[in-house]
Amino acid sequence: MIQLNNYINGRQVPPKCNAYLDNVEPATGQVYSRIPDSDQEDVAMAYEAAKAAFPAWSKTPLEERYRILIRISELIEHHLDELAQTESRDNGKPVWLARKVDIPRASSNFRFYATGLMHFSSESHEMPGEAINYTLRQPIGVVGCISPWNLPLYLFSWKIAPALAAGNTVVAKPSEITPYTAWRLGEICMEAGLPPGVLNIVHGTGPRVGEAIVTHPGIKAISFTGGTATGARIAATAAPMFKKLSLELGGKNPTLIFADADFDDVLRTTVQSGFANQGEICLCGSRILIEEPIYEKFRDAYVEKISRLKVGDPNDPETRVGAIVSEAHKDKILSYIALAQEEGGRILCGGKAVKLEGRCANGWFIQPTVIEGLDQGCRTNQEEIFGPVVTIQPFSTEEEALNMANGVRYGLATTVWTSDLKRAHRVAHALESGIVWVNCWLLRDLRTPFGGMKDSGVGREGGWEAMRFFTEPKNVCIKV
Ligand code: NDP
Repeated sequence: MIQLNNYINGRQVPPKCNAYLDNVEPATGQVYSRIPDSDQEDVAMAYEAAKAAFPAWSKTPLEERYRILIRISELIEHHLDELAQTESRDNGKPVWLARKVDIPRASSNFRFYATGLMHFSSESHEMPGEAINYTLRQPIGVVGCISPWNLPLYLFSWKIAPALAAGNTVVAKPSEITPYTAWRLGEICMEAGLPPGVLNIVHGTGPRVGEAIVTHPGIKAISFTGGTATGARIAATAAPMFKKLSLELGGKNPTLIFADADFDDVLRTTVQSGFANQGEICLCGSRILIEEPIYEKFRDAYVEKISRLKVGDPNDPETRVGAIVSEAHKDKILSYIALAQEEGGRILCGGKAVKLEGRCANGWFIQPTVIEGLDQGCRTNQEEIFGPVVTIQPFSTEEEALNMANGVRYGLATTVWTSDLKRAHRVAHALESGIVWVNCWLLRDLRTPFGGMKDSGVGREGGWEAMRFFTEPKNVCIKV
């Protein structure tokens, strides 16, 4: 049994209370490692290490900071196969997907912000003949990063890399459900020569470790990705403490398909956008809205493709839908499928748990599921399910499509399919969504602002947005 530890002050250390939690492999339902059940004492220790490391790290020459972050990026790349295997084991996603997407992206995150810090600059405003203003963008101090289980190392590093690049020191918590690659990141940082205390990783539950990070008076900013309810709780705690907050929360993303779109392209990509990573990506399109003239043609072709997706062992290269991350999450998804039927939905394919044989006999799997016949206001079409479940609905006008797309509390990402350029601009402009993809999905440029509006979050990550979030602007006005 592998026993993980916290990474504090440059060392792997056990939790103070010496208590551990089981870590389960979703594909087998078996416990395969144990992680620290840390509490506020461990967070306090991590904070002290981060505080002590801050003066030197914030003054470290940019080239040296760059060199260390690049080294972390290279080491992640070097350990690609092992990290992909462990990410898959922790999360249930296919190994090939972790190898192709999650781990390369974690490496890119460090590379992107290593190079970014070398180019980050701030503004100056001249008042001719009177004064010159320049804006310093200084690191904040000790910051907290809290991330979810769906893209574990990918999202963990998406916060940590800019926080470190900007000169902060960090206390971070990965999801207790997927701790393994975060633990490995600690080891990689030691190997890369990151000075002790610059990054500290505390494992444990949200209510114990997460809350301790959010409520710690010395931690000045919180970057959080996770569910909307947790985000609201964090905001309620942190706002009166005047902490900087970046909240990347849930979604109920629409995919708008107009009749003039390239049908084959739509079909191919919408399989991905609905079901990649078992539908457990905040950007997945779980509501597919189709213009009436092609509704039936799309529905039949889509259902045919989805029912052929292989649900299976994440180690199998043929698997397209791996294991659901936990038993509780599997039960939640199945309860939504039951609800959809109560609400009058017709299951066109899937709808049931899958029992595999052999190694994965006790794992948690669900058939990819397509549902039609539900109206816009029902819970299935309003609440985030975060699993391999999509609904399809017809629309007859652009206005109706926009009303349906915008008619939820969330506003994270939308995909629009059309070959009409004017419509693409018009619709993109009218959508209440932080991200709009036209004729593509999940095409990411790390320089662009990333995040949602409405109940999908506050603030943006990515590019300079993250560097600005992790720095405090200070204007200096000098009379000439
Ligand atoms: P949760 O909100 O349950 O958890 C996210 C993180 O917060 C975990 O590390 C969790 O710890 C921790 N946490 C839980 N309670 C608290 C608390 N009271 N104080 C501080 N931290 C806490 O989300 P999930 O892990 O279930 O992730 C799925 C959600 O994340 C979905 O809603 C999805 O849409 C969203 N998401 C959003 C993205 C975006 O960019 N907008 C990207 C990816 C996911 P623990 O797990 O140990 O309990």
